[in-house]
Amino acid sequence: MNVSREQSPPLKWAIIGAGMLGLRLAQRLAQAGQRVTIHEAAPSIGGLAGAWQLGEVTWDKFYHVTLLSDLRLRELLRELDVEQEMRWVETKTGFYTDGKLHSLSNGVEFLRFPPLGLVSKFRLGATILRGSKIRDGLPLESILVGDWLRKWSGKKTFEKIWEPLLLAKLGESYRRTSAAFIWATIARMYRARQSGLKKEMFGYLPGGYARVLERFTRMLTSAGVDIRTGSPVDGIQSIADGVQVSSQGTSDEFDRVVFTTPSAHIVKACDGLPPSQRAKHEGIEYLGVACASVLLKKPLAKYYVTNITDRPCPFTAVIEMTALVSPAELGGKHLVYLPRYAAADDVIWSQSDAEIQEQFISALERIYPKFTRSDVLAFQVARAKQVMALPTLNYTSQLPNFATGVRNVWAINSAHITKGTLNVNEVLELADHAFQTELLPQLSAASERSSANPTRYVAAAR
Ligand SMILES: Cc1cc2nc3c(=O)[nH]c(=O)nc-3n(C[C@H](O)[C@H](O)[C@H](O)COP(=O)(O)OP(=O)(O)OC[C@H]3O[C@@H](n4cnc5c(N)ncnc54)[C@H](O)[C@@H]3O)c2cc1C
Repeated sequence: MNVSREQSPPLKWAIIGAGMLGLRLAQRLAQAGQRVTIHEAAPSIGGLAGAWQLGEVTWDKFYHVTLLSDLRLRELLRELDVEQEMRWVETKTGFYTDGKLHSLSNGVEFLRFPPLGLVSKFRLGATILRGSKIRDGLPLESILVGDWLRKWSGKKTFEKIWEPLLLAKLGESYRRTSAAFIWATIARMYRARQSGLKKEMFGYLPGGYARVLERFTRMLTSAGVDIRTGSPVDGIQSIADGVQVSSQGTSDEFDRVVFTTPSAHIVKACDGLPPSQRAKHEGIEYLGVACASVLLKKPLAKYYVTNITDRPCPFTAVIEMTALVSPAELGGKHLVYLPRYAAADDVIWSQSDAEIQEQFISALERIYPKFTRSDVLAFQVARAKQVMALPTLNYTSQLPNFATGVRNVWAINSAHITKGTLNVNEVLELADHAFQTELLPQLSAASERSSANPTRYVAAAR
């Protein structure tokens, strides 16, 4: 997208949150000639895509892969001049069920998969095919995911495969989740296979998201964007011609403000939110994730993702990053993520890293007989309580607007993703859509008001 603005004084924008969504909006506004300041609460940018130090390596706090079909993200990587460095790897998927680890990476392995009989396999395959054929997931928002999967897969397959997977990803909240969730998940999985010649081709950038963020920072700062980290916004207030943004006792004035943070923060910081918008933000139920990064001397197995259906298990999947990323990237070490998706009342939020480490490592010992705790070089837990808005029944119809109802203030966050799963590509698409439909018209309106110097905006999609 290329947006040029002719002869009118730029507006002063504040973006709240320097996750991929906030960074993308800043990029678009800067391209349109606007003056942009980003306020980020954390000491560094990136949000959920941020990186950290684990032992001697720097890698993403939460695991990330890119799909060949993530076109918007790949376009950004091209703009950042790193797309050509992407590594694309064919990965394998494991399944841990009934105390055994199975490979489930292709059609032949699926046919051999012992935990399911032939009829169940057929119904499982038919369910996935059925999901992949649905173009619009909106009608599925009125059906509970459990009901839809039971209908297409049957009770036995639901109990053996789907329910443990839903519990793993959504906890007990799956009982309130609509079938649009599984539709979006199947659609992403299908796209990954289609663009990868029916194989799972996953990509990563050497250096991980730390590298993406470093490039993004360079691009934004050279376009004049002011990125303020360690600057949590605690209040905003409409004033005569703009908005006052407060952070830790100091305040600044802006013409326009855009929140990209989770809804709870928007409600807290935005006193003047009209009751209808406040209720909509408060009505969004978020799931969080506590995710352990484990640096190991040796690999665990050959699978990038291992789904775990046996319960109890303190984590919900095993993501072996170095089944995708070359261990040479990480000084010859092996990196495994152990995520646990958790609702607000999950006990994990009150547990220390040491408590979590003891439970998680004991579970790894049960699953992988060759693993010993002396293989562990580093163990750290990343926690994010508000990661994903739960797609409950009739979700889309209850969403808050982008325009908050407070003059000159917008709230654009990942809860507005309604046709996909939570991933960086979707977040970029959301940012571009919101920019085009909500923010760009502001520039035209401002220029029309500028009587002394009438101006014109030209927006052209590339
Ligand atoms: C475990 C896990 C695995 C994932 N795997 C993948 C994957 O494989 N592929 C993929 O594409 N995506 C993946 N994602 C999703 C991806 O990380 C997100 O979609 C994306 O990073 C969300 O960006 P965002 O800007 O919407 O939100 P966030 O990253 O949450 O950004 C919001 C920002 O707002 C800041 N903030 C909050 N409060 C304030 C305040 N008061 N003042 C100022 N700033 C504030 C936060 O610190 C944060 O930086 C994964 C996510 C998780 C958690």
